[in-house]
Amino acid sequence: MEELPLGALRVRGWSRGCDLCWRGAKLVLFVTGKCPLYERCPYCTISNWRRNKNLVMVDENPVRKEEDIIREAELISALGAGITGGEPSLVLHKVAHYIELLKDRFGKGFHIHMYTNAWKINESSLKMLIKAGLDEIRFHVWDKRLWKKVKMALDMGFYVGAEMPSIPGKKWIRSLKELASYLDKIDASFMNLNELEFTPSNRKRLLSMGFRPKPDSEVAVLESREAAIDVLRFIEKETSIMGYFCPALQKEYQVRMRWTRRSGNVAREYEIPTDEGTLIYGEVQGPKETLMYLYTEYGGILREEKLLIDAYKFQEIAEEIKDLGLIGRLVEVIPTDNRKVLQVFPLDFVLREKTDE
Ligand code: SF4
Repeated sequence: MEELPLGALRVRGWSRGCDLCWRGAKLVLFVTGKCPLYERCPYCTISNWRRNKNLVMVDENPVRKEEDIIREAELISALGAGITGGEPSLVLHKVAHYIELLKDRFGKGFHIHMYTNAWKINESSLKMLIKAGLDEIRFHVWDKRLWKKVKMALDMGFYVGAEMPSIPGKKWIRSLKELASYLDKIDASFMNLNELEFTPSNRKRLLSMGFRPKPDSEVAVLESREAAIDVLRFIEKETSIMGYFCPALQKEYQVRMRWTRRSGNVAREYEIPTDEGTLIYGEVQGPKETLMYLYTEYGGILREEKLLIDAYKFQEIAEEIKDLGLIGRLVEVIPTDNRKVLQVFPLDFVLREKTDE
C-alpha cells in the first residue's frame, strides 16, 4: 500500500479520472439534487438546501444556461469533469446532453466520469451514455441485487469501479470487502474509499449511529481511515483491482486547487490571487469627494460608494486612509462568480501588521 501526501493511500496506482481529480483539474457538474436514497444513506454529505431540488451547479456556481458549464471549464482549464448529484441517472437525457456538449467543445480526451447508485441504470440508459461519450462510471452500491448493473456497464465497454464511504464497523467493512471481491471477479478496475465526513446535513444521524469526530480533524469521522486501511489491505492481498483512499483533507485540497486554477483567470484589476487560491483586495468607504481624491491618486475602481483597490496599494496607503477618517479593510473572497467573502481584515489590523513588520 502506497502512502501519498495528505494521508491518501493507494494500491496498484490509480485511474486517469482519479489523477485529474487529485490535481483539481476536473470540474464538478452537479446535475440534480434529487435522489431516492436520502433515507437509506445516513452519511450522505449533500447539503440540505440542494436535496430534492431540481438544480444544476458547476463547481460552486449555478448553471443558468449551458454556456455556464463551458465557461467554468475554461476558467479552471479543466481536463475533465465528474458528474454527480443527487442521482444523475434520474436525469439521463440532461447528463447525455452535457457530456456531448463538453466532448464537442474540448475533444474526446476530456475525461468524464459519472457517479451513480445504479437507480436507473439499465441497458438502454447505458447505451445512451456510451453514445454520448461517458468514459467512466463510479458505482455506489451496497445492495448486492444491484451489482449485476456494474457488470452490465463493464460489458458495454465502460471503465468501471466503485466509490464508497469507508464506514467503521464490522458490518460495513465486510460489505466493502465483498464488493471488492465482486469487482475483482468481474474484472472491474477499482474501488475508491472516501473518508466518512460530518457535514451539517448528516451530523445528527451519524452521531445517533455512534460515530464520533476524529480529534485532529474538523470533519473526518473517527476510525474511518482505519476501516479504509483494513479494506485496502484486503484489496492488496486478495484481489487484483486498484484501491484508493481519499481523505477528507484531500477533498479540501482539490477545492483549493480548483480555486487556484480559477483565480488567475477571473481576477479583476483590483483583485490579487493568493497562494490559497482566493482573491484579496482593499475596500475603502467614506465621503464621495475623498474617495475620488484617492481614486485619482492611486487608481482602483469606484463602485457603490466604495473604492476597491489593489491589496498591496491598500497596505501602502493604510496610514493615509486612517488620517483621512475613512473606513477601510482588506477583503478575501473565494473566486466564484458571487465572490463569497472568506475573511475581512479591518484597517487597524492592517496597520498593526505593518508596525510589527
Ligand atoms: S446515493 Fe449518493 S446522493 Fe443519494 S443519498 Fe446516497 S450518498 Fe446521497
